[in-house]
Amino acid sequence: MEAHAHFKQQILDACRTLVDKGYLMATGGNVSVRITGQPAPQNAFAITPSNYDYLKMLPDDVCILSLDLEPIEGERKPSVEAGMHAGVYQTRPDVMAVVHTHQVYASALALMNAPIPALFDEQVRFLGRAVEIIPYAPSGTGMLRNTIVKHIKNHHNAYIIQNHGVLCFGHDMERAIHNVEILEKCSLAYLLALCSERKVSKIPLAVREIAFAKLRKDQKKVEKGEISTGGE
Ligand SMILES: [Zn+2]
Repeated sequence: MEAHAHFKQQILDACRTLVDKGYLMATGGNVSVRITGQPAPQNAFAITPSNYDYLKMLPDDVCILSLDLEPIEGERKPSVEAGMHAGVYQTRPDVMAVVHTHQVYASALALMNAPIPALFDEQVRFLGRAVEIIPYAPSGTGMLRNTIVKHIKNHHNAYIIQNHGVLCFGHDMERAIHNVEILEKCSLAYLLALCSERKVSKIPLAVREIAFAKLRKDQKKVEKGEISTGGE
């Protein structure tokens, strides 16, 4: 169906960018975008197929699913984490794109069970007050989906999943990819700072709250349809 071509292409372009930048490796991770606009259904999303080489992917390999995980379009089996993505869209009306990666530096913090406190203005402005650790649950399970749904209600846009990887959100795909990049930069800087064994300084609390308020303001605009979300 032509109505979904734009969203399938967004998935392909995002995967290419994330592979080129080294955030997606082999077949690890998955990417989705909420289907918006008319005549496309509002309660659906496009997602990468399960266990398939990102660089071989063609538009028809992208799966279109309802938020109840009913297949709408696509021959391939959707990502095993489709339930996790659907849970995000159902819980967070401000989220229009979700990127899940196994990126290396943030994954190191996932192993250390170390959340990232408010270290940089830009981090809080786009990712939230802190990058929290979502407790481990096996990949592709309802348990992981439920744990994630419970944790993302604090309106942050980046989380680290313990012993697994990361989850980044955006009001469009471009923002979700930028958030992946900001998270990896913060993770590397934080790891290096921790290695020094010196006290790691944070931004002042008042600045943190001002930066987070700006993020919340943007999210509320998306919820009201006042910000373009990359749909057609
Ligand atoms: Zn994963």
